[in-house]
Amino acid sequence: MIYDYLIIGAGSAGAHAAHFLHRGGARVAVVEQSAIGAGGSGAAGAFISPRVGRGGELQRFTNEAFRFAIEFYASSPYFYQTGILRLPKEGQSFAGLEEFLDVPFTKHEDGFLFPTAGILKAKPHLQLLLEKIPLYYFSARPIKKEDYFQVGELRAHKIILATGAWDELIDEPYIRIGKVGGVRFDVRSDLALPYSMHKMVSVSANIEGIVTIGATHNREGARPKEPRILFEEAKKMVGEFDYEIAGMYCGVRSSVSDHLPIVGELIADARVPKIRSFKTLETKELPRKGIIILNGFGGRGFVFGPYIGYLLARHLLDGEPLPQVVDVDRYFIRYRKKGRV
Ligand SMILES: Cc1cc2nc3c(=O)[nH]c(=O)nc-3n(C[C@H](O)[C@H](O)[C@H](O)COP(=O)(O)OP(=O)(O)OC[C@H]3O[C@@H](n4cnc5c(N)ncnc54)[C@H](O)[C@@H]3O)c2cc1C
Repeated sequence: MIYDYLIIGAGSAGAHAAHFLHRGGARVAVVEQSAIGAGGSGAAGAFISPRVGRGGELQRFTNEAFRFAIEFYASSPYFYQTGILRLPKEGQSFAGLEEFLDVPFTKHEDGFLFPTAGILKAKPHLQLLLEKIPLYYFSARPIKKEDYFQVGELRAHKIILATGAWDELIDEPYIRIGKVGGVRFDVRSDLALPYSMHKMVSVSANIEGIVTIGATHNREGARPKEPRILFEEAKKMVGEFDYEIAGMYCGVRSSVSDHLPIVGELIADARVPKIRSFKTLETKELPRKGIIILNGFGGRGFVFGPYIGYLLARHLLDGEPLPQVVDVDRYFIRYRKKGRV
């Protein structure tokens, strides 16, 4: 049998897309080289929090995704609606930003408390999503055949690359995936915050004796920050507390230049001649590769995951156009206009 879609990567991107495609009736399978949530997704504290800012498309889209995610997670046994207090970082201020907030909030100290926000136990949530979807374990390398792709023993009409920071299969010059490393600690502690908190790092409310502390700050090429800094920042925010480390999880996440997800079928750059007018360009008519990309979730993999999975399924199954702000075509156009990424 030939699958309609073969998704490579069982993180937040791959698992949510698989869920919505399967639910929409597509024949879909997932290939994972290691384990469900083995990449950035398994390391994430998975704080589900909105964006604070001065409006604009990044904030608008992020908060649209946040509202969708909160509704979606309401039926997950692994979501804890703790509320999240967001505080401005040193030298920043949230003054006047309330007028741009399009999600429920109350003003609190010098920050905003988002009562609908919360945290997700990422791995079991992803495992549950993939429970009824065929999952194969090997390192995938799709080979294009006449009218399908061969991936190991499997065949599919289309490939969905949900490989996070592993970018070797994304063979197009207009996409560059940055990498940011981070760490999360789960600690046993009596610390009992009334809500989860975020400033330089995130500290969760206490869930069954466990407090989660996490951040992703180590950019490519920069000297990694020592894990003790995480605890120093946490204590600056919530005060002194005793703890015993129950688990440490390291991971790398992708980052892209405009901080918005990248979704859609890749344009085959090598087959597109010189573009004479961008004003009249119809990207729909450009040659495509049969390979769909799902990436660039940045530090919000579990905020974007459900909404992007839903939008992709509607696009592929019902022909709904993808919102321009996340459509992969924007990267192709920028690259052709500037001659570089
Ligand atoms: C420490 C840390 C804390 C974070 N905290 C938060 C947070 O609080 N809230 C939030 O929303 N987000 C958070 N994030 C970000 C979030 O984790 C990422 O945005 C998200 O995990 C990205 O998901 P993904 O599916 O794109 O990538 P990944 O989760 O990295 O998944 C990619 C998968 O693809 C597999 N793969 C790659 N290549 C192949 C191949 N050739 N064949 C088969 N399989 C392959 C990998 O093994 C991996 O499992 C955090 C990230 C880190 C690292």
